[in-house]
Amino acid sequence: RQADIECQVLVLGAGPGGYTAAFRSADLGQDTVLVERYPSLGGVCLNVGCIPSKALLHAAAVIDEAAHASEYGVSFGAPKIELDALRVYKDKVVGQLTKGLAGMARQRRVRVLQGIGKFVSPHEVEVVGEDGTRLVRFAHCIIAAGSQPVKLPGFPWDDPRVMDSTDALTLAEIPKKLLVVGGGIIGLEMATVYRALGSEVTVVELMDQLMPGADPDLVKPLADRLKKQGVAVHLKVRTAGARAGKKGIEVSFEGENAPQAQWFDRVLVSVGRAPNGGKLDADKAGVQVTERGFIPVDRQMRTNVPHIFAIGDLVGQPMLAHKATHEGKLAAEVAAGEKREWVARVIPSVAYTDPEIAWVGVTETEAKAKGLQVGVGKFPWAASGRAIGLGRTEGFTKLIFDEATHRVIGAGIVGPHAGDLIAEVALAIEMGCEAGDIGHTIHPHPTLSESVGMAAEAYEGTITDLY
Ligand code: FAD
Repeated sequence: RQADIECQVLVLGAGPGGYTAAFRSADLGQDTVLVERYPSLGGVCLNVGCIPSKALLHAAAVIDEAAHASEYGVSFGAPKIELDALRVYKDKVVGQLTKGLAGMARQRRVRVLQGIGKFVSPHEVEVVGEDGTRLVRFAHCIIAAGSQPVKLPGFPWDDPRVMDSTDALTLAEIPKKLLVVGGGIIGLEMATVYRALGSEVTVVELMDQLMPGADPDLVKPLADRLKKQGVAVHLKVRTAGARAGKKGIEVSFEGENAPQAQWFDRVLVSVGRAPNGGKLDADKAGVQVTERGFIPVDRQMRTNVPHIFAIGDLVGQPMLAHKATHEGKLAAEVAAGEKREWVARVIPSVAYTDPEIAWVGVTETEAKAKGLQVGVGKFPWAASGRAIGLGRTEGFTKLIFDEATHRVIGAGIVGPHAGDLIAEVALAIEMGCEAGDIGHTIHPHPTLSESVGMAAEAYEGTITDLY
């Protein structure tokens, strides 16, 4: 069968990985086709992930700040939440970005095909869309089909009161009682939003701490704050069953400290994301896919089939947008014939909770487990003038150094804006900075960024300045 469209690069999926790859390919002069099943570009991140969640977290932060402002003599009334207007605001933020992407695709003459793409041979993808079926023949393909929420079995998923993160972001209502199953980043961000909007929130987590993966000391200020705010957190607890009824969803639990079975108005299941690698008929192109749906790649993002690349959530952890975009750019450059490979040493992780938690590189827990010889420099925000002024002294900045070289190899920051602050340490790690490089860098006063310099000075034992 004759192909309907021929191109040099076909990108399958228009999330942060895919649109970055497509735009880079076009910028490098490649004739590029971008295939996306949904009418709007941007994938999970822009449509039902990073962006809408942060828009809602902003509203949550304003509600909380207003509630505490009486501490410095400024009082507001009780917040009046207009859910429709909040939804419009969130959708406007998303729309501005996705429309921007469509414009950028047009400018670059990237041909966008709407429909579901599947491989039919090593050089062909068939795209089934509303306006028919098209066969696209490509020289190179970049698979960027992303991931989707894990639907934990045992929940009545046909009931709209059982939600995944996509459902929770639609903000259908503010449930009186919300259960969040899974205390990872996504679950806790949504718990933060709904709690601020007025829900009574319960979180259950299988592991012995919230946000598994982050150092426990980083998580503690968040856990303490959630407790103060009345969020019930149950660790080492799993759900044992769930059923829908008139009163809501009744959920039972098991584990040492399991709470009694309870009715909830809504349940958010946020227990991880599953890669979409298994849904593309990749075998017809000879591309290897693991049992779980991941697609293995090398340091150039090549699959086992040399002219087919894969990037983003479906190549593995961490499933983060900034990893996907960097991989997308790299794959596009390699496909265009550039000699490039993955060189990033670290990928930062951020939970946009309140306080924010951010970490990068080696964690203390990891260093201990691996027997690495490390030293830690820690700066408590109780000694930061800026943090005191913000009324947020629970935070701290921690840098982890290799004892042999004094180079920074990891960091953890908890407190407002931790996600912005961690970027400096990511750069320091990439550049091989030693403690002195960071400590001797003049940070502006009074900012939270000073805490990074101070943590390095604390490690060196040269700290002179507080407040
Ligand atoms: P995706 O964004 O998943 O995009 C894949 C695209 O491929 C989708 O548009 C899909 O429709 C399309 N597609 C799939 N199969 C086909 C097919 N067969 N044919 C055509 N199209 C197809 N990450 C961060 O870094 N920071 C955050 O703050 C953050 N917050 C998040 C909050 C939530 C609630 C969620 C759910 C995720 C969040 N993430 C965050 C993760 C981030 O969204 C993902 O890591 C990122 O979107 C992955 O990009 P991707 O390009 O690999 O795939």
